[in-house]
Amino acid sequence: MTPTDWQIVSKLLADITGDKIGTLEACKVGGGDINCAYRLSDGKHRFFAKTNTRERLPMFEAELYGLNEILRSDSIRVPEPIGCGVAGEEAFIVMEYIELSGRANESEFAHKLAAMHRCTHDQFGLTVDNTIGSNPQPNPYENDWVKFWQRNRLGFQLSLAKKNGCGDELFETGMRLNQRIGEFFLSYTPVPSLLHGDLWSGNQGVDSSGEAVIYDPACYYGDHEADLAMMELFGHPGESFFSVYREVFPIDDGYPVRRELYNLYHILNHALLFGGGYEAQARRMIDRLLSQL
Ligand code: ADP
Repeated sequence: MTPTDWQIVSKLLADITGDKIGTLEACKVGGGDINCAYRLSDGKHRFFAKTNTRERLPMFEAELYGLNEILRSDSIRVPEPIGCGVAGEEAFIVMEYIELSGRANESEFAHKLAAMHRCTHDQFGLTVDNTIGSNPQPNPYENDWVKFWQRNRLGFQLSLAKKNGCGDELFETGMRLNQRIGEFFLSYTPVPSLLHGDLWSGNQGVDSSGEAVIYDPACYYGDHEADLAMMELFGHPGESFFSVYREVFPIDDGYPVRRELYNLYHILNHALLFGGGYEAQARRMIDRLLSQL
């Protein structure tokens, strides 16, 4: 971003907040996978911004929508979304800056996350499509969760993998599994819960008062087990998390099997984003899931 680009951001901030915003100093923040992240300050106000190429504006619009959805649920702290736009060659999103550190208290986090999951919708999906990492994540509204997962999650990722040159065998066995995933839901009917959608440990923290914060969401209304599974994929929530969570939102006995189904989606996404051993891991997951049917 050039100084002129930051002036455009400053003007948008002034328009939205109604405050006079001075020249912004942008200090790079590490930790993100996808975008350039900055702490912005004019000496009086602080904001958090992320930038990417200008054609990625819809990604930031969808992030803004997701942050608003969680904010409105009044369940768990998220950075207050402010706005997004294009400045020069880049798209940007700006939101409240939160001094983040460490990990939340498990009981508090469990309680608030379960409260967010208790916010429901009459259908699965979301009003907008968003992204998972930098890959597209379609969210057309759907009454049937199994169809939603088949079309917009597992089937969609398998098709992306095929287009991007992953092996035929992965696609074919994956699609064989995809046709049969209804069998994992014979005695369980999920409700459409508000999900963060990308709840790995790098997207949660605490603010300076120790309050739990989640950020960088890939929101949609879906089975709450999908968020729990992602938390377990790259982290280890303890027994205190699960015992408090269950008091607010019971977890069905079939969760341990579906956890692998839900995490397969993220592992396929990681295979596309990062390569490495993720494709082989996805193949092993597909085999294990098929062997349970
Ligand atoms: P990306 O979209 O590239 O994955 P993130 O949204 O994860 O980027 O943000 C990158 C890093 O910036 C995070 O790991 C976190 O440490 C920090 N961060 C995210 N949101 C805020 C915020 N609102 N205020 C302050 N720091 C933030």
